[in-house]
Amino acid sequence: MSNAETNYLQRAVELAAENVEKGGFPFGAVLVSDSGWVTEAVNEFVTDHDPTAHAEIQALRHAAREHGDLAKFNDLTMYANGKPCPMCMAAMVNVGVKKIVFAAGDDIGTPYGWDTSASYNNMRNAFGEQGVVVEYERVEQAKDVYQRWFELNPTEAQADAAETTTSAS
Ligand SMILES: [Zn+2]
Repeated sequence: MSNAETNYLQRAVELAAENVEKGGFPFGAVLVSDSGWVTEAVNEFVTDHDPTAHAEIQALRHAAREHGDLAKFNDLTMYANGKPCPMCMAAMVNVGVKKIVFAAGDDIGTPYGWDTSASYNNMRNAFGEQGVVVEYERVEQAKDVYQRWFELNPTEAQADAAETTTSAS
């Protein structure tokens, strides 16, 4: 790892330590774009009562507010002190984060209750078999909403549809 990478990872650990002293959960993250910007964040579950306010998600939120659609960046690296949970991983994959570096794996976290393995194992189960009742009740008007969006956003919609077709084939 380069010195810069080591420093960003150390900073993520520092942010986590500061959050603990403020009464928060022990998680910090630093999102870095090779284009030159850096966004820092901490877990804000305690202050916001927001179950999605994990450090990595907060870093994505703050960065998106500042820099716009993050999907346009293909040069993002996330540094986090803790091993990312499945929710954060899914968000980072969706955004197109290219690399994730973390400082404390389950080997460090598990004795303190921060073990991601049960959650990752559960997410390997089939859709609808992950401990949440999932029902698909087809509603035709739901298609109309998609159709209307497609009409209002033809370029974006066609690009998305083409991408879906390509990745599905
Ligand atoms: Zn998370």
